Amino acid sequence: MPQTPAPRSVQVRTLGCRLNKAESDEIRAALAARCVDITDATPEVVVVNTCTVTAEASKASRKLIRRSVAEHPGSTIVVTGCYAVAQPEVVAAIPGVNLVVSNQDKDHLASLLAGDVGVSASVPVVPARPRANLKIQTGCDELCSFCIVPQTRGELSSRAAGDVVATARALAEAGTREVILTGVHLGKYGWDRAEGRRLVDLIAALSALPDLERIRLSSIEASQIDVPFLEALAAEPKVCRHLHIPLQTGDTRLWEAMRRPGTLEHFLEITERAKDIIDDVTLTTDVMVGFPGEDEQAFANTLVVTELVGFRKLHVFRFSPRADTPAAIDPRQVETPTMRDRSERVRDLGNLMRAEWLQSQEGRVVQVLIEKAGPAHQSTRGRPRLSGLTDNYLRVYTRGPAGLVGRLVGVLVSSAGQDSVEGEIVGRLPVLQDRGGFHPV
Ligand code: SF4
Repeated sequence: MPQTPAPRSVQVRTLGCRLNKAESDEIRAALAARCVDITDATPEVVVVNTCTVTAEASKASRKLIRRSVAEHPGSTIVVTGCYAVAQPEVVAAIPGVNLVVSNQDKDHLASLLAGDVGVSASVPVVPARPRANLKIQTGCDELCSFCIVPQTRGELSSRAAGDVVATARALAEAGTREVILTGVHLGKYGWDRAEGRRLVDLIAALSALPDLERIRLSSIEASQIDVPFLEALAAEPKVCRHLHIPLQTGDTRLWEAMRRPGTLEHFLEITERAKDIIDDVTLTTDVMVGFPGEDEQAFANTLVVTELVGFRKLHVFRFSPRADTPAAIDPRQVETPTMRDRSERVRDLGNLMRAEWLQSQEGRVVQVLIEKAGPAHQSTRGRPRLSGLTDNYLRVYTRGPAGLVGRLVGVLVSSAGQDSVEGEIVGRLPVLQDRGGFHPV
């Protein structure tokens, strides 16, 4: 890849998890800081940030690379992300791919493409969004037997707290109201750094930023949660009352076969404590079906635990054998139709529990951060449809002026749909400290 001249325009395409999205945002921001146009429809360079968490994700990555080549035949095609790390030869052999970049080098992609001249010190994400992913660490030192991530993301690697706070400050000053702390193993933030700052310390430092209204954790393993941690979260009003805690299985035998960190008993205990300690907390999770050796009893145990915890949203995945992981060579693979049936059954349970929660919100006034405004129609008397999220992860639709994007408003919930609720705005909240009362819109 030639270092000069720097491209005038770069497009970044992304698949996969929040961490990938956060990294793509950082690449865009770093390029923008180097005066590279990141919105050009005819980019000189296309960066494809790939994923390989399942076989489907790998397939989607290959498809996106090929589509990028076809849509931009004159552009330089750069491929990075987990699929590029897991299968570099396959990626390099795709006709039209010019460069394959590892996840480790992804952080330097902007300087690799555009050089280091003229970079501004504080780098806002462009454009600023009301909610933004904020990468705080990468890498994992667990060895879950199904997971390819430790191979593609490497060892634990935390960003310096000062860097994270500076990025959050720049985001908040650019208009972001909520940051979603993102990584592979958030609970082990700081474990690899001498400065001794842990996740709670980072949250405390971020909470002190006056322009930032909300701090959300993207996902955290139960093994990294204890009662003092929950109490610290509950004591900080900027921390969202939402914890995504991956379950994967509710069966002790499978939990051990998966080599999940901690124990299922601790998972059950800590989710109960979370509900006691954090008022109206929303718990969400990942469930995997069809892990090798999963029989009907093991699956039934997953259903029981899922219902017992009362998750308000499930992400259901079918087991997908990943190269060089122990589970991939386990002879007790589950048939695809069985996996399909089980994923439907657990999804049905998740939808049922979600519907109950959504219905329970009718008649309540909830605090919503408005994220998006749709087009205004005559039928809506010129008031666009607004979409936003509560701190406890309730998706809310309402009507109001587009100028409310990025603002906190109070919404009286009038009806519940399948995945969201609708309601009328009853007032706006100019600043966090004013949560006690609403102001007229
Ligand atoms: S905790 Fe387990 S599932 Fe999560 S990234 Fe690490 S190895 Fe993978």
